[in-house]
Amino acid sequence: MRQVVVLGAGMAGMACARSLVRHGHRPLLVAPRGDIANRGETLSFRAAPHLERLGWLGLLNDETALACQGRYSVWGGAALRRAPGPGEGASGWHIDRRRLETAMAATLEADGVERIGGTVRQLSRSPGRLVVELADGPPIAADFVIDCSGRASISAGAEAPLRRLDRMVACFRVLPLDEDVEAIPATLVEAVAEGWWYMALMPGRRVMIGLFSDSDLLPAGLRHDVALWAAMVSRTQAISLRLSSLSLDPAMAGDLQFAAASTVTTSRLVEPGIIRAGDAASALDPLGANGLAAALWSGIQAAESVVGLLAGNDAAALRYEQDFLEGIAAHLTAQAALYGSEHRFSAMPFWQRRHGSPP
Ligand SMILES: Cc1cc2nc3c(=O)[nH]c(=O)nc-3n(C[C@H](O)[C@H](O)[C@H](O)COP(=O)(O)OP(=O)(O)OC[C@H]3O[C@@H](n4cnc5c(N)ncnc54)[C@H](O)[C@@H]3O)c2cc1C
Repeated sequence: MRQVVVLGAGMAGMACARSLVRHGHRPLLVAPRGDIANRGETLSFRAAPHLERLGWLGLLNDETALACQGRYSVWGGAALRRAPGPGEGASGWHIDRRRLETAMAATLEADGVERIGGTVRQLSRSPGRLVVELADGPPIAADFVIDCSGRASISAGAEAPLRRLDRMVACFRVLPLDEDVEAIPATLVEAVAEGWWYMALMPGRRVMIGLFSDSDLLPAGLRHDVALWAAMVSRTQAISLRLSSLSLDPAMAGDLQFAAASTVTTSRLVEPGIIRAGDAASALDPLGANGLAAALWSGIQAAESVVGLLAGNDAAALRYEQDFLEGIAAHLTAQAALYGSEHRFSAMPFWQRRHGSPP
């Protein structure tokens, strides 16, 4: 059987490996064994059919997910508004990503998927094959590589250059809720001069509060200054009110966490022997809260593309690349319209950079 190597064990890589197994392949999964970041993410309702298809819908339980009751925002005006939802039912789930991805990994282990805990340094080509070069182990020969390495996008390069569209970074804290405090599982987004704030409940009585801004627009010294971050929270309208209603002190002891959140796209997903999926193919602004669902979808599509290509049929791969790129274009247009609907801070660099036509 041909050797198919999946790089990365986030949602894209794991969805891809699971799909390959279901198509009768035995992929090798390569990803560093490390801590999975928990950053208060919301899994869109759009993920449900993909989870169902992978036999993973049942992994959403009290430990891993909280049904999200809606999204509220202060955006384009001072009023707090409820964003239009998908209709009846949950508009998604507030997830404990560490627990959910650990549960997904356990199903792959039960599927018999072999996993190597290594960091890929680069991909190279030898006649007729690819070589996955590890920073911490011997090289691995592969007939096909599916790059699901997230923002690292190991396989990007001259054939598939990355295009960075902004410098967004998330600067956040995860705070514990008191036992006797009642909290509604909903997300709250608030536009401010330097970007936007996001707040969401997490399973296990925790709350994530984060500022999304451009790295060059954050105040100097913020990285080590929780008090400065807390002072910025206190200047918000709805976020600060919700924090006090939950008896949360944003300046309480603990660290600030940072995560790269810039929009980075590639225009080529498929090249000989390589397919990209998830953030490795395009990482989008978290404002859309769709990156995880997109990672699941594209992991499945990339697996089906490889199954086709190994059988000499490129139809699924061509369709996947076209659907993905059309989805990115539609997303960028919708995102530009959303940023364009906020005029209160038009003189500020964060907003000036995002006003105008989509890139
Ligand atoms: C702050 C923030 C908030 C977000 N909020 C949301 C949200 O609310 N809802 C939502 O849907 N999306 C959200 N997103 C986006 C979402 O997190 C991503 O789109 C999603 O995680 C992409 O999944 P992935 O599997 O492609 O990549 P990742 O989850 O990044 O997984 C990448 C995998 O590749 C591995 N890897 C990396 N480098 C190497 C290497 N050199 N060698 C081998 N393996 C490697 C990693 O260890 C990991 O296993 C947010 C993103 C950020 C930054």
